[in-house]
Amino acid sequence: MNTTTLKEVEYEQPEGGAVCSTKYAWARVPPEPAPDERERLKARIRRLLKEKNAVMVSHYYVHPDLQDLAEETGGIVSDSLEMARFGRDHAAQTLVVSGVRFMGETAKILSPEKTVLMPDLDATCSLDLGCPIDEFSAFCDQHPDRTVVVYANTSAAVKARSDWLVTSSCALDIVRALKDKGHKILWAPDRHLGDYIRRETGADMLFWNGACIVHDEFKALELELLIKEHPQAKVLVHPESPAEVIALADAVGSTSAILKAASEMDATEFIVATDKGMMHKLRQLNPGKQFYEAPTAGNSATCKSCAHCPWMAMNGLADVARVLETGANAVHVDPAIIPRARMPIDRMLAFTAALKNGQPAGALVPHFGAA
Ligand code: SF4
Repeated sequence: MNTTTLKEVEYEQPEGGAVCSTKYAWARVPPEPAPDERERLKARIRRLLKEKNAVMVSHYYVHPDLQDLAEETGGIVSDSLEMARFGRDHAAQTLVVSGVRFMGETAKILSPEKTVLMPDLDATCSLDLGCPIDEFSAFCDQHPDRTVVVYANTSAAVKARSDWLVTSSCALDIVRALKDKGHKILWAPDRHLGDYIRRETGADMLFWNGACIVHDEFKALELELLIKEHPQAKVLVHPESPAEVIALADAVGSTSAILKAASEMDATEFIVATDKGMMHKLRQLNPGKQFYEAPTAGNSATCKSCAHCPWMAMNGLADVARVLETGANAVHVDPAIIPRARMPIDRMLAFTAALKNGQPAGALVPHFGAA
C-alpha cells in the first residue's frame, strides 16, 4: 500500500482531550428511555418539528427511533451523501442532524442560512479526529502535483483544503474520472477505503493514514469461520474495512449499496460488515431474510466499537427534543471558510447528480493542469 504516515491516529488520549476518546463517547450514550417516556419524547419531537419548521436528517447508524421518526415526519434516513443533498434541498429552516459532527458541518456549509442542530455536538468520528488541518495542509503542500480528494468524514477546514469531496457511494466513480483525466491523487483520511479504490481503479494514490474504528475492527479469520457456519449467506462489506475482509465479500459498497445488494441478491441469509445500526433498516426492508453481524472479536480485538460507532450512539431522543425546544447545539462553521469548503462538496453533488440522470459526469472533471 502506498502510504505516508505523518501521524499515528489516536483516539484514547488525543491532544483534543477526553472529549475525543471512545470511552468518553460510550459514557455519554444516553440511556434507553422507559416505554412511556419514549412515546412522550416522540410526541414532543413531532410537535416541535412542526412548530419550528424543522426536519430530521438521520444517518443509518443512529438509534432506530431516530431513523423511524425522521421518515415518519417527512425527513430522511440515509447515507452521508443523501443527507447532504436532502438538507440542502429541503425547504425547512431548521435541520436536526442525527449523526456525527462532520455531517452537521456539511449541512451548514451547504445551507449557511439555515439553523443546523445536533443532539450532541461532541459526537465526532475517528477519521475526522485523525486528520487535523495543520498536518494535513502540510502534507498537501509537500505534494502539489496531486489532486486532493477527501472523504466526507473530515472537518470543514480539511474540506476547504481539498479539490474534491467523496463519500463511499461515489468515490469509485469520481476517482476513476479523475484518473482518466490524468490526475494523480492525494487521498484522505481512510486508508482502507483509499486502498480499495486504488485496487479497483488503478489510480496513482498517496494515502493519509486514517481509519474508522468500527470498520477497522472487522476480522477476516473470524469472518471465515462465520461463513463456514452459514455457507449459504452472502457477505456484504463496507469498503472502510481491512483488505482481507473485503476479499471475502460477495458485494462491497457504501451503506446504500449494501441495502441495495441485500434486496436484490438471490439469497436469504447475509453476513454484514458495517455498523450494526444498519441492521434496523436491513431487517425492515427485507422481512423474510436473515442478517448476521460480521465478527469484531478474536485475536488482537480492541473492541473500541464492537461494530457500533460510539459517537453515532450518542444521539438520542431526549437530546433531539431538547435542542428543538431550546435551539441549543447549533452547528457553527467559520463563514470565512464556507465558500472554499463548499467548492469540493458542490463538485461531488454535481457529479453524482449527472451520474444519476444518465449525463456524462466525466465531462465535469477537468484534465489535470487545466484551469
Ligand atoms: S462509523 Fe466510523 S466513519 Fe462513521 S462516524 Fe463512526 S468512526 Fe466515523
